[in-house]
Amino acid sequence: MSAGEARLSVDLDALAANFRALEAEAPASEVAPVVKADGYGLGAGPAALRLWAEGARRFFVARVGEGEQLRHVLGPHRAAEIYVLDGAPAGSMPRIAAANLIPVLNTLEQAEEASAFSGRKNRLPAALHIDTGLNRLGLRVEEAEALARAPERLAGLELGLVMSHLACGPNPDHPMNRRQLEAFSAAAALFPDARRSLANSAGIFLGPDYHFDVVRPGITLYGGGPRERHDPRIATVATLEAQILQVRTVPAGESVGYDATFTAHETTRVAIAPLGHADGILRTLGGKGSAWFEGQRRAYLGCVSMDLVALDVTGCEAARPGAWIELIGPNALVDEVAEDAGTISYELLVRLSTRAQRVYIGETG
Ligand SMILES: *Cc1c(COP(=O)(O)O)cnc(C)c1O
Repeated sequence: MSAGEARLSVDLDALAANFRALEAEAPASEVAPVVKADGYGLGAGPAALRLWAEGARRFFVARVGEGEQLRHVLGPHRAAEIYVLDGAPAGSMPRIAAANLIPVLNTLEQAEEASAFSGRKNRLPAALHIDTGLNRLGLRVEEAEALARAPERLAGLELGLVMSHLACGPNPDHPMNRRQLEAFSAAAALFPDARRSLANSAGIFLGPDYHFDVVRPGITLYGGGPRERHDPRIATVATLEAQILQVRTVPAGESVGYDATFTAHETTRVAIAPLGHADGILRTLGGKGSAWFEGQRRAYLGCVSMDLVALDVTGCEAARPGAWIELIGPNALVDEVAEDAGTISYELLVRLSTRAQRVYIGETG
């Protein structure tokens, strides 16, 4: 292979292992993968096909369009329930019904519109989002109570799931977790025929009280720790590597990169690798983060530019053009790189662009 390649490997076997680890963590619940935002940037199609092969039969996406794409990828022979977290924005019910999606209804207006669209004869499936403190999407608890008292408002729908979403799951000591758990338990009891779902990845690791019937993990499937830090139970899924393009010796006193933010205090060997902020190596990693080479951290020197990064390979003879450097992966852990960049694993993953060659490891189905 020629020097100067960059590749993103997505390990579907690791994805499957994470799915099974979550099943083991919540053994009484169904694990329903969240594959929004193109499967957290790693490819919703391959991820969903593999997870379906592992037994997943319920999926969550954010947008109607994502649901349509997922339905298309799964095709007519792989039955699955696809829930749309945006719910049924005004006028979207024809598309939702055509792709056989399930709206997670967020407002009374959505509930009424969906119910009217559906009609009593051929009731369409729906889920209900009840807000318990995040104040993002969902009915207020009082609205859910009003709805439960007037079930005719949902007469056109088959309400199969009620859910809520945690605000502080990554912090197990936060009192809000328990408050939301109690509020959700009470509100869900108003809809006794529906399955219940509260936990995202972090919520699963809060323990069995939080599991209910269905859990909705996203980030841990893709290799991020449930508490925004590495967890040994979770396998690395995404590995971003690049082959060194050039190695240069920078004498003491000279600077490296735009704005001359790094100055060598001694003679420094610098490797230039073909990944930059256009690939998702966030600019905030400049001067902070590190890549890995031959089992050692290699600091980023100076600014991350659009197409290139500079790494300190002083004293490392093996660093030469064509050698592979790991920027994200089993050593440069996604949670640690994200922390160095001042963000979280979610944002780091969804910002990976499609410029680096993508390679899927393992079978899709
Ligand atoms: C994104 C999302 C999830 C998945 O969250 P993770 O923290 O990635 O596990 C679950 N539920 C809702 C409502 C979401 O928006």
